[in-house]
Amino acid sequence: MALVEVRNVKKYFSVTKGIVESLMTREATYVRAVDGISFEIEKGEVLGLAGESGSGKTTTGRLCVRLLRPTEGEIIYNGKDIATMKGKELRRMRRRIQFTFQDPTSSLNPRLKIGDAISDALKLQGIGSADERRGRTDEILERVGLSPASSFYNRLPHQLSGGQKQRVVFGRAIILNPEFVVTDEPVAMVDVSIKAQILDLMMDLKRELDLTYLFISHDLATSRHVCDRIAIMYLGKIVEVADRDRIYEDPLHPYAVGLMNAIPIPDPKAKKAEAVPRGEIPSPINPPSGCRFHPRCPMAFEKCPNEEPELRDLGNGRQVACHLYDN
Ligand code: SF4
Repeated sequence: MALVEVRNVKKYFSVTKGIVESLMTREATYVRAVDGISFEIEKGEVLGLAGESGSGKTTTGRLCVRLLRPTEGEIIYNGKDIATMKGKELRRMRRRIQFTFQDPTSSLNPRLKIGDAISDALKLQGIGSADERRGRTDEILERVGLSPASSFYNRLPHQLSGGQKQRVVFGRAIILNPEFVVTDEPVAMVDVSIKAQILDLMMDLKRELDLTYLFISHDLATSRHVCDRIAIMYLGKIVEVADRDRIYEDPLHPYAVGLMNAIPIPDPKAKKAEAVPRGEIPSPINPPSGCRFHPRCPMAFEKCPNEEPELRDLGNGRQVACHLYDN
């Protein structure tokens, strides 16, 4: 059964116009960060969300945990639409779904002891006495590998390495015993040497706490190690979804093909990885007509700039939005 169902979700941000521009046109301008996406995440699954920067991955993640409210659409979590939830109900639901930010340094208050940063969520939710919160925080510090807890509790973020800060971020995410965690580029800011340790921690927590993850990453080589399925986003749309092995070994959408060809191979004799598909990602304020990928697509044909391809189910859990697979 799906734990999370995202149904036709859009998120538009209005753009502030200059004086001249506002005099010339009264029409509001929007950044279409997410523009009608649907997907599901099964309980216990790790769904990877991949794509270049500017594809809408982070906005999608923030919508899934209601750090942002969608412009349109439904986000069903455990059978309830959280897109419209407010007040106490939203606060209660926040115990069950958590988000880890990309940059652990900027997501931690530099003046707050890391023990307090982790236990804050308990305080905000009114859980336990001060002693109980301290006990639970020590337990979490040990659990995320910051041991002994007593020597870490009172440290400030600047006294920790990048990897230790990322462990604090995971500690803060699990203290309320969540069910679903959206993790945004969890290893993008840590040293290559400790990347594997952080990914191992993430997967150990998944097994022990029965977590479901939405794993956001532009790094497809990393996603391959941890994800069960991958969804590829381009300019606010999902263009392909498939099981991990299927999408890495046989991507269908030309954009997915380009991303896979650009994965570096750790073998000096191997052919050099190609660049990501030619050209820049266009502006989400005024996306290209028809298939949004058509100005960069090596396979584009007549229909592509004129008709937007739908995300079609091709069977075996594979969905693709490309006119090459219309039939
Ligand atoms: Fe390329 Fe056309 Fe497919 Fe878009 S619909 S990815 S432009 S072939």
